[in-house]
Amino acid sequence: MIRQFVPQEFCLKCRSCCRFREEDSVWGPCLLDEEIQGLLDKPGIPSAALSVDHRLKLVADPSGEGFICPFLEASSNKCGIYNNHPFECRLYPFLINFRKGKVLLTVDLNCPYVYENINSQAARDYIAYLTDYLNSRPLRLMLKNNPQIIQAYEEVREVAELELPDETE
Ligand code: SF4
Ligand code: SF4
Repeated sequence: MIRQFVPQEFCLKCRSCCRFREEDSVWGPCLLDEEIQGLLDKPGIPSAALSVDHRLKLVADPSGEGFICPFLEASSNKCGIYNNHPFECRLYPFLINFRKGKVLLTVDLNCPYVYENINSQAARDYIAYLTDYLNSRPLRLMLKNNPQIIQAYEEVREVAELELPDETE
């Protein structure tokens, strides 16, 4: 389980995550292959919530503004599958990015907590922890087997370069 950088109380008041401007937003959560199967196996999960390109299909926000993740409980602002929420959701506001031939750990400065705290010692410690975690062999293999998680976001800040397994692993 990935340790979280942003305190849960801060997120519950923020209401920025899990909401999107466009129905086909590139920021929609992308799933690992094993997560797709795991979600489909759960009772009550509509298969229509999962798209063929490994993303959660967004639905119209009941408030009438934009779109939300199908698992967001909009009234309480809580994730309806929090105990099993996807790797990419657990990683956010950090993201894995491919840029100029390198796989990078990046961070989204649109997250207000990150924006305020990115230069803190706590952020430096967390980035060191997350880089080590993502460079561990099981995580490197997971990324190799799930290239869809390595994205190409433009407006994110690079914080570390990641390793990928070589062909022999
Ligand atoms: S944008 Fe940042 S503070 Fe807001 S809900 Fe998402 S992770 Fe939490
Ligand atoms: S799965 Fe949960 S954490 Fe991820 S976008 Fe949906 S509601 Fe948010």
